[in-house]
Amino acid sequence: MTACRLLLLGPPGAGKGTQAERLVKKHRIPQISTGDMLREAVAAQTEIGLRAQSVMDRGDLVSDEIVIGVARERLSREDTRVGFILDGFPRTVDQARALDEMLESLGSKLDRCVVLVADEPAVIARLLNRAEIESRSDDNEATIRRRLRVYREQTEPLVEYYRARDVLAEVDGMGTIDEVEKRIGEALGA
Ligand code: ADP
Repeated sequence: MTACRLLLLGPPGAGKGTQAERLVKKHRIPQISTGDMLREAVAAQTEIGLRAQSVMDRGDLVSDEIVIGVARERLSREDTRVGFILDGFPRTVDQARALDEMLESLGSKLDRCVVLVADEPAVIARLLNRAEIESRSDDNEATIRRRLRVYREQTEPLVEYYRARDVLAEVDGMGTIDEVEKRIGEALGA
């Protein structure tokens, strides 16, 4: 596979995290999940964590300023030279522009943006199921609906943003984990 600077896009519950883990194993490149990094900051009660906590619990987006800073720091580390899988960043057009600038200053660019397409009732069911298994403070029904609305309004426009840059691959996110993994592999030409 030539493309290894990857971005996974899709609504909450579409399976980005799960598929990112598979891609990590397959291509030996790091996963960069702003959601995970923010949850770590919350758990460690850092200044960023303290600022992000209530916003995340509501299902809203943490400010571009905070998230762009977190992503910039992570992408500047040596282990991303071989490639990376972005999961959960960018989530707004301003974040996408900032990412383009970051990569440009590092002399690279995004190779592929994979959108996991999933219908809303299915992702709501998956997230409610996850809420019973894990205890994420933002996996309750009201917050799930809010996160889906935020996705539609602020993140979905990125599909057109990346289509216009000719890096978009739309993949059906419904089916088993293995089925979706296979489709992603095909979309990446692996
Ligand atoms: P999910 O995709 O299931 O909603 P994530 O783990 O990606 O979960 O994100 C959880 C929360 O973290 C989001 O609802 C948001 O509050 C915050 N967050 C994560 N990434 C970003 C981002 N790029 N911009 C703004 N907020 C973010």
